[in-house]
Amino acid sequence: MLVLGSGPGGQKAAIAAAKLGRRVAVVDRPDMVGGVSLHTGTIPSKTLREAVLYLTGLTQRDLYGQSYRLKENITVADLTARTEHVVGREIDVIRSQLTRNHVTLFAGTGRFVDDHTIALREVTGQERLISAEHIVIATGTRPARPDSVEFDGRTILDSDNVLTIERVPQSMVIVGAGVIGMEYASMFAALGSKVTVVEKRAGMLDMCDVEVVESLRYHLRDLAVAFRFGETVAAVERHPRGTLTVLESGKKIPADAVMYSAGRQGLTDELDLDKAGLTADRRGRIEVDEHYRTPVPHIYAVGDVIGFPALAATAMEQGRAAAYHACGEPVGQMHDLQPIGIYTIPEISFVGRTEDQLTEERVPFEIGVARYRELARGQIIGDAHGMLKLLVSPQDRKLLGVHCFGTGATELIHIGQSVMGCGGTVDYLVNAVFNYPTLAESYKVAALDATNRLRELDRIGE
Ligand SMILES: Cc1cc2nc3c(=O)[nH]c(=O)nc-3n(C[C@H](O)[C@H](O)[C@H](O)COP(=O)(O)OP(=O)(O)OC[C@H]3O[C@@H](n4cnc5c(N)ncnc54)[C@H](O)[C@@H]3O)c2cc1C
Repeated sequence: MLVLGSGPGGQKAAIAAAKLGRRVAVVDRPDMVGGVSLHTGTIPSKTLREAVLYLTGLTQRDLYGQSYRLKENITVADLTARTEHVVGREIDVIRSQLTRNHVTLFAGTGRFVDDHTIALREVTGQERLISAEHIVIATGTRPARPDSVEFDGRTILDSDNVLTIERVPQSMVIVGAGVIGMEYASMFAALGSKVTVVEKRAGMLDMCDVEVVESLRYHLRDLAVAFRFGETVAAVERHPRGTLTVLESGKKIPADAVMYSAGRQGLTDELDLDKAGLTADRRGRIEVDEHYRTPVPHIYAVGDVIGFPALAATAMEQGRAAAYHACGEPVGQMHDLQPIGIYTIPEISFVGRTEDQLTEERVPFEIGVARYRELARGQIIGDAHGMLKLLVSPQDRKLLGVHCFGTGATELIHIGQSVMGCGGTVDYLVNAVFNYPTLAESYKVAALDATNRLRELDRIGE
């Protein structure tokens, strides 16, 4: 098996096939081992977030006062020290996993010569041919850049080069209020940059619970973030003293830097897909079936290059599933119930449906809420704003959705996911004993709240 791309999808495909006894090779540029995930995406952005939280002392201010900071003037060097350390270690882990499993790593990029053969272009410019029974395309994406904007990588940035800025900007415009845009908006706001978010749509993160999005907006406003919803950028100008973002409505926003977060484009334009009998859509994405097979059945595609949901979490599972299928190993269908984690400050996570979706689908539900300020652990860590919300079916008492906002949300959500995945009811959570004092206890508190409401409902109906 030959795998193009060493991001989460490619890695897991390669290792799974190797474990099943196949001869496997992965192709990627030597400076990109680990993929976008490790170099410009998930890992550096989440490490940067940890560095921001630690150095700014933001999460400790409820306990030690609003002026509390671990370090006064936080420099880019302070932030990147942690990222470089983590990325370096992770590269080592990935290389060692591939070596341990006897996966060959070819340094360079690949393009199709025919449906079984790849031309490997090495850094020296030399090309050699490699053929394989199965090929997995896991080449990922790059940030989409509107043609009308002149990106310079210093003041007009995309989410790749935001990691290599020279200093923390005093002011910043973020274009696009999607997940990546809002994560970076949170980080820069926490660092003290004056952030303005510009978004074409009327709001942000519309897949999330409305109450959670409102809370996030309140928190970010508190960090001086300004929102310009329903606005389109007409032009971004670069001036000696900074940038000027001109909106179609006529507003002008001066800032030290502008970051575009306007979606991503599949990395397929240099693959010569036609030589293998394949095509990509306008956004560079490849179509696959439920086994991640392209229309050419021995060629698979996984990860961001196949589009939604474009998460490292799913890319890994798709890689494994594709390899199992290629090797004739039984593989179950990926569970529909997938958690979403958004690392804004505070963080958001959910699984299942939202109140709005349930209402639209005419599915009755009752809610149960736990607020961190009512939990001993919430007081200990100084998070008074966090909350967990359960959406429960009054008919069979099963969980329909879990929504969490605040410290540890992206970890806590897996409890709800497990209960939902195993078909558990709210009564399981009521009767369970949780470690104390923990944030996980919020499940019990929210479950009790929900069952109290359900009891009211039953009483009235008696
Ligand atoms: C800022 C940011 C934050 C994110 N945060 C999260 C998060 O918190 N959680 C989460 O789950 N996901 C997150 N994501 C998404 C996540 O990074 C991607 O879903 C994941 O990286 C996709 O993995 P992949 O296997 O498709 O490959 P990628 O990680 O995209 O890597 C693709 C690899 O293919 C290589 N390649 C390209 N063309 C060729 C070629 N012709 N030959 C050989 N190799 C080639 C590239 O060099 C690259 O190394 C984030 C993304 C971004 C940009």
